[in-house]
Amino acid sequence: MAGLPLDIVLLGAPGSGKGTQAERIAPAFAVPHISTGDILRDAVKGGTALGLAAKAFMDAGNLVPDEVVIGIIRERLTLPDTTAGFMLDGFPRTLEQAAALDEMLADAQRALRLVLLIDVPAEELVQRLAGRRACRACGRGYNVVFDPPRVVGVCDVCGGELFQRDDDNEATVRNRLAVYSRQTEPLIGYYRDQGILATVPGAGRDPDQVFADVQTLLAGAQRA
Ligand code: AMP
Repeated sequence: MAGLPLDIVLLGAPGSGKGTQAERIAPAFAVPHISTGDILRDAVKGGTALGLAAKAFMDAGNLVPDEVVIGIIRERLTLPDTTAGFMLDGFPRTLEQAAALDEMLADAQRALRLVLLIDVPAEELVQRLAGRRACRACGRGYNVVFDPPRVVGVCDVCGGELFQRDDDNEATVRNRLAVYSRQTEPLIGYYRDQGILATVPGAGRDPDQVFADVQTLLAGAQRA
């Protein structure tokens, strides 16, 4: 299978570190980082029809309807930067989305090579989400406890201001975790049955340690 597109999915609860790993994986494996959360947040910021439709769901920590996010991904995967592969972060989140993705890929004579599950227990997730910050200017993610910036509130990379996402407040976080276990966790079995699931322990480890495992798994998938 060497030479086939490196089509991969990052799976994991909110706060498991998908975005952080995605920032490392994209340059190392030359695949575009496609985050439905980022696409939706941009739409909200830009005040587009998509953003207006998505905002209430996002603010409550609920999922945006399947047909909306499936449409976003269908369109995104037609762009030429996905020819040699892509990395999905935050999609799919329901079995319906997973089935739609399989169908899209089959139509393009492609298939997922690997689904990487970053496994972090629920207790640690709450703590991580509460400490999560991102740079307003360049988007780099931080955690005030696990991955702090050198100067409080300031991005190491570009000096931009760090902020907390609207949906990282406690009530919304609790709902997002409940939504994950109800609607997204079933994907673990779905991809395990397909034989493409690989699990990386994320608890109590820093992002570089997790990335070392991720790199080994992805390099194996690339060679396979
Ligand atoms: P994230 O940045 O991945 O945590 O996503 C933030 C929010 O965007 C989620 O809580 C959902 O409201 C929405 N969202 C992102 N991806 C999806 C998806 N695949 N399906 C439904 N809603 C999504």
